[in-house]
Amino acid sequence: MAGFPQIEEIGTGSGAISNKVLYGLIQEQLEKITSSIGLKKYRARQLWHALYKDRFSSVDQITTLPDSVRAQLQAAGWVVGLPQIVQTFTSIDGTERYLIATSDGATVETVWMPNGDGAEPGDPTQESASPLDYRRATICVSSQVGCAVNCQFCLTAKLGIQRNLTAGEIAGQVAAVLNRQNVKVGRDRINLVFMGMGEPFLNYDNFMAAVRLLVEAVGIPESRMTVSTSGILPGIERFAQEAIRPKLALSLNAPNDEIRERIMPITRKWKIADLFAALRTIPMGPRQRFTFEYVLLGGVNDQLHHAAELAALVRGSRLPVTVNLIAWNPGPEIPYVMPAPEDVAAFQKHLIASGIQTYLRRPRGRDIYAACGQLKRTVA
Ligand code: SAH
Ligand code: SF4
Repeated sequence: MAGFPQIEEIGTGSGAISNKVLYGLIQEQLEKITSSIGLKKYRARQLWHALYKDRFSSVDQITTLPDSVRAQLQAAGWVVGLPQIVQTFTSIDGTERYLIATSDGATVETVWMPNGDGAEPGDPTQESASPLDYRRATICVSSQVGCAVNCQFCLTAKLGIQRNLTAGEIAGQVAAVLNRQNVKVGRDRINLVFMGMGEPFLNYDNFMAAVRLLVEAVGIPESRMTVSTSGILPGIERFAQEAIRPKLALSLNAPNDEIRERIMPITRKWKIADLFAALRTIPMGPRQRFTFEYVLLGGVNDQLHHAAELAALVRGSRLPVTVNLIAWNPGPEIPYVMPAPEDVAAFQKHLIASGIQTYLRRPRGRDIYAACGQLKRTVA
């Protein structure tokens, strides 16, 4: 596809292909490996610590294991297999967009936003003093290579779906970025948003396994994580049954099924009312809210009568909701226009006046194509 360098062009090669990747394995799986090469059980615990707490990227670095043990692991073909940052684009606003290569040379994009994603409840307009102040840094994580959903306004959709990411590849993006930024989990506050390339609920099992790894092994609480779905009904229904569950964002993007179907053809399958019914089955704490994301497309869904219809829809749903408005970020060959700033302001004002908590997400890293829906344009 012209203008969209594909994985072969990145030059990571395929020499690193290995199905003996340690990163992503849980304790019991590590125990099987250590016992299969004749090691004591506690070696598995050391390995687990080295992978998820120390975040070492090669077996050589795991000096908590004696040389002989490392040699045994390597002789058996095991590699850490942490995804590698192969290219970095830095925005004037401090956002960094990474091209991250997995062990088979596929690439995905991961974004580091040092001041958060600009849509956190509490202080949506607050700028931090320094771009390197990551008290509320947010990492935007990809769940698939490409995406199958085909939203008409999204650049990632142009890629189609190439493959699912494994749990280790999803969690490993986080580890790679934490390493690059020297983040100490526990000391530094980190938020995760699963809003990069792909539809997390079309890669459900790997996605949820990654969440459990990030919570239980890496140590980031699920209350600091938000997963965004375009509205995959069976995924939402399964999500409702989970014991460990990030916050949920629904990409609503329209005030009715008719407009939603035009811009998100997946709506033909699952209607807004059905999605809301599934959301109602998710247990929520007293202060918890869903996020509805709403991408404003100039002239399509950004007029005052759309705001009125959206307000009625949201209020009528009786769901606890925060609306995140996102002014559409342009991409090549995508047939929409950005909303006029006065329309955006009027839209937000109307929702707030209707009693709906509404934030306007500031675009992050638009100059480096790191903003929402711009992922997979590898040359800025
Ligand atoms: N696939 C998931 C998560 C990734 S997309 C989902 O769709 O929810 C993350 C958010 O970016 C979604 O809310 C989507 O509606 C929004 N988005 C996609 N393309 C965009 C664009 N060009 N400009 C602004 N937001 C966009
Ligand atoms: Fe996929 Fe989300 Fe883009 Fe839709 S908006 S094509 S679901 S990544």
